[in-house]
Amino acid sequence: MSTRARKSGDGVLAGTRRLIVKIGSALLVDDTTGQIRRLWLDAIADDVAALRRRGIETLIVSSGAIAVGRRHLGLTGRALKLEEKQAAAATGQIRLAHAYQDALGRHGITVAQVLLTLDDTEERRRHLNARSTLTALLALGAVPVINENDTVATAEIRFGDNDRLAARVAQMVSADTLVLLSDIDGLYTCDPRRDEAARHVPEVRGITSDIEAMAGEAPPGYSSGGMVTKLAAAKIALAAGCRMAIARGSGEHPIAGLENGARATWFVPSAEPLTARKGWIAGRLNPVGAITLDAGAVKALGQGKSLLPAGVVQVDGSFERGDAVLVRGPDGATLGRGLIAYSAADARRIMGHKSREIEALLGYRGRDEMIHRDDLVLD
Ligand code: GLU
Repeated sequence: MSTRARKSGDGVLAGTRRLIVKIGSALLVDDTTGQIRRLWLDAIADDVAALRRRGIETLIVSSGAIAVGRRHLGLTGRALKLEEKQAAAATGQIRLAHAYQDALGRHGITVAQVLLTLDDTEERRRHLNARSTLTALLALGAVPVINENDTVATAEIRFGDNDRLAARVAQMVSADTLVLLSDIDGLYTCDPRRDEAARHVPEVRGITSDIEAMAGEAPPGYSSGGMVTKLAAAKIALAAGCRMAIARGSGEHPIAGLENGARATWFVPSAEPLTARKGWIAGRLNPVGAITLDAGAVKALGQGKSLLPAGVVQVDGSFERGDAVLVRGPDGATLGRGLIAYSAADARRIMGHKSREIEALLGYRGRDEMIHRDDLVLD
């Protein structure tokens, strides 16, 4: 997809179906007062409302919990220990969520707070849970406002920066566009604050070592933000088939600005999100079990449908929800593979049954599909 404006009123976001906007603390929170910049946030909310009117599903990944919360706990003027940051985040996250609720509520938009840890996006069982919840929220018309669950995520298991968190979320929900709002309008050949010869890079099609060299070294003591984490985010996004922009966010209505041709760096993937997701399922994951289907189910899969429990005749191996399993035909021939929505034990209990019987059989209302069509790759 071309990233240039085509005709007037048809800007760079034309054709976008699912968009993630990442908002950093430096944009949202006033440095000196520790207060949320409400006018700026209201303007972003106006942009988001306009996107949704055009049918673009929008998710926000917002930082700012620590920056807002530290002031209320009197934690200013010095570097914070991890547990102090976590305490600050617990205080600030409530204020952050309320601010988004107010700003988007002006447009009658419901906000849903979603706090994630690294595990939620990487561990497959939780990945499926978070993906289903986020897609359900979007289907219900809500705007998810996502942050890292800072109060429980400790040093080894945290993202630490919302650039990569935003890219993981993009991958998880198969978003087609990710916009990182920043204090700079994109990637430069070298640091423009230090070198006059620095040139802006409008488009990147792969994160080569030359591109990585442009970001330079991470600043000492760096924990979040900077060009290094943005390129790390770009790698994740491109592998997921999601295009990504680094755009300046400091003015009001930065998304409308981007749409109207404001300068930015666009990272352009070679595949679409769903193709990339299927590539991930086909190539990266080791199947740990197998399910065998009846002829009717094989036919339904051939027509692009999801796999329902009714069409499963045999379950082999031991696996958990979210694991990759082989899918076999009645003669035992492998047809493909997919991420299964049930553990082996539960799959055995519900195989051959109608989806509406799942609750009576398992004691909980699981997914209707054994393998959703988005999670299925046929050979
Ligand atoms: N999760 C952190 C916060 O809300 C921010 C991480 C980052 O700066 O990217 O304060």
